Amino acid sequence: MPPSTDDAVTEARRPVLDVRMGDLLEMRKPHACGGRSWRVSRLGADIGLICQTCGRRVMLERAELEKRLRGPIQRGVPE
Ligand SMILES: [Zn+2]
Repeated sequence: MPPSTDDAVTEARRPVLDVRMGDLLEMRKPHACGGRSWRVSRLGADIGLICQTCGRRVMLERAELEKRLRGPIQRGVPE
């Protein structure tokens, strides 16, 4: 079984925004502190993020995060 091919198919069927607890995400624009990487700390209607450079916590609506997100840097551990 080639797992990489299966993953590509699964990826296309997923909702647009696929974030998990502990994911490290990169934003299109840097934070006020200059950092671009954020750790996912909370999932729900809003997504909680912690700036990895200055430690600030923010809450973003999924749609808002989708707009700002560049992509995942590192995947969190699946629960
Ligand atoms: Zn910051």
